[in-house]
Amino acid sequence: MSTETTTKEILRGGQFLVKETNCEDIFTPEDFSEEQKMMRDSVIEFNDREIVANRDRFEAKDYALTQEVMTKAGEMGFLGVAVPEAYGGLGMGFISTMIVCEYISSGSGSFSTAFGAHTGIGTMPITLYGTEAQKQKYVPKLATGEWFGAYCLTEPGAGSDANSGKTTATLSADGKSYKINGQKMWISNAGFCKLFIVFARIENDKNITGFIVENDPSNGITLGEEEHKLGIRASSTRQVFFNDTVVPVENMLSERGNGFKIAMNALNIGRIKLAAACLDSQRRITTNALRYATERKQFKTAIVDFGAIKSKLAEMATSLYAGEAASYRAAKNIEDRIAMRLAAGNSHQEAELKGVEEYAIECSILKVAVSEDVQNCSDEGIQIFGGMGFSEETPMEAAWRDARIARIYEGTNEINRMLSIGLLVKKAMKGHVDLLGPATAVGNELMGIPSFDTPDYSELLSEEKEMVAKLKKVFLMVAGSAVQKYGPGLDEHQMLLLAASNILIEIYLAESAILRTEKNAKRFGEAAQKEQIAMSKLYLYNAVDTVIKNGKEAIISMAEGDEQRMMLMGLKRFTKYTNQPNVVELRNTIADKLKAENKYCF
Ligand SMILES: Cc1cc2nc3c(=O)[nH]c(=O)nc-3n(C[C@H](O)[C@H](O)[C@H](O)COP(=O)(O)OP(=O)(O)OC[C@H]3O[C@@H](n4cnc5c(N)ncnc54)[C@H](O)[C@@H]3O)c2cc1C
Repeated sequence: MSTETTTKEILRGGQFLVKETNCEDIFTPEDFSEEQKMMRDSVIEFNDREIVANRDRFEAKDYALTQEVMTKAGEMGFLGVAVPEAYGGLGMGFISTMIVCEYISSGSGSFSTAFGAHTGIGTMPITLYGTEAQKQKYVPKLATGEWFGAYCLTEPGAGSDANSGKTTATLSADGKSYKINGQKMWISNAGFCKLFIVFARIENDKNITGFIVENDPSNGITLGEEEHKLGIRASSTRQVFFNDTVVPVENMLSERGNGFKIAMNALNIGRIKLAAACLDSQRRITTNALRYATERKQFKTAIVDFGAIKSKLAEMATSLYAGEAASYRAAKNIEDRIAMRLAAGNSHQEAELKGVEEYAIECSILKVAVSEDVQNCSDEGIQIFGGMGFSEETPMEAAWRDARIARIYEGTNEINRMLSIGLLVKKAMKGHVDLLGPATAVGNELMGIPSFDTPDYSELLSEEKEMVAKLKKVFLMVAGSAVQKYGPGLDEHQMLLLAASNILIEIYLAESAILRTEKNAKRFGEAAQKEQIAMSKLYLYNAVDTVIKNGKEAIISMAEGDEQRMMLMGLKRFTKYTNQPNVVELRNTIADKLKAENKYCF
């Protein structure tokens, strides 16, 4: 671990809202090490050869192909990047695991889901919560792809309310084993896995318990037929039935009643990895759409030269640029925090668990933002392809269908939105993020007279950075007032939580894009970052609109009379540009660069 990591203050999860981040302190994709770039290139080569080249077979529900390519990924070591060397993995850092996940996921959503389910929720519960004996027995098999894993949490009656499952685990009279009975559904990889992580309830426990269950049909395990799905067609998704399935007591994961915690922590990692998985898909969609637009002529003009198409391409690239910035910023925070805990004497398990849990807010933000961006991007991709976009012959149609699932699994986007605010409030209560002080300061500022000084925005992106600081004030004003008004009853006000979350998401993404650009402009020169500057400004411009819309909705719903007027005035003040960016010019700048490079090139 570098000294830099030990001595530098690492922001805690959620603190980005109340503490200023220097651009030098964030990690960006331009910071990838030589080793990380080599890993990326070898994954890209694998993806092109094994997945992209076989797209038709994935779309034709060739489940065997998914398993075959997973086995090959295991042979290449890609399934074990996050697994410590002691258990047969490569033991790479968190950023490297994000890179592998990102670049292996874009060829087909089917493979991406199989990979994510196996390496994330299928393997991590054991590496993070398993006993030494459990880890020695199972993890090397999972890390190499000798066995595949699946994760059985969801049931017909227990989806978002995951702790309400009816599957039971009953201790045998001799105390040596549990019998598991129940029905799980939507289980990815069920058709070819050798191991299930199963969550079941013991007696009338408040919380479920996790178990490692080997897939043995002679032990009361049966599978439903493959589900026929809108997208990710070659990802195996089945129901799994447990009928008096005997599991030795030593296969319990962690302690009795700890299953919900395991399930949620596995999902934290799953969420940021899902964001990574969506990024390269968005990159491929953008490049494919761009290339089609360059070739396709209408009215004797390549459609890429029409403003309507340029605008779409510029927006597609911009949301991707911000998504990349935010994902790797959070990934580095997680990696640093894990390193800090290891240095403080934590075990690998504890360090990784706590390291990721610390940034659960950011993981939820990223899951929501990037899954929606890739969906919008594929939708615009279809539009750029016109009628051809609607045809199975072009890659857009499958990309659009595959992208849809990302908003549903790993916790729906509604649940993740509400979770991001709930976690933030909890952190404030625990004193981990001081929201009260800054929120009070914003309240005082609102009562005071605004400054009429002419600000100096001569420094690159200074107005944009100040705008982000003001957007944070909007969040503090809205969330502070909501907490004060509703206290513990805030949970009941879901529309308000969603509005607050939309503001939070835009702040994190906009700030990440701006800091990435600022850092790169300082080291590579402003001229080299012309289009990145344009993307940062364009992202922020859109973010400000989202904040205005959601801020207004929140204020009107919870405040009346003078209070409402004052808050609306604050909203206006905190979202006001001194110099409005010319978004048409920004979009043209971005689109012209894309056209010149003939690919997403940032
Ligand atoms: C292809 C696929 C693969 C999957 N793979 C796995 C897997 O490997 N393992 C596994 O365990 N599960 C898996 N799942 C299940 C997935 O995690 C769930 O579908 C998801 O958590 C949502 O649960 P649900 O489908 O029951 O929807 P519900 O929980 O019924 O939700 C329906 C709607 O209601 C909303 N909603 C629910 N509760 C609330 C609330 N409290 N407040 C506001 N809105 C709410 C949701 O956001 C959603 O819009 C998979 C699902 C699919 C489709």
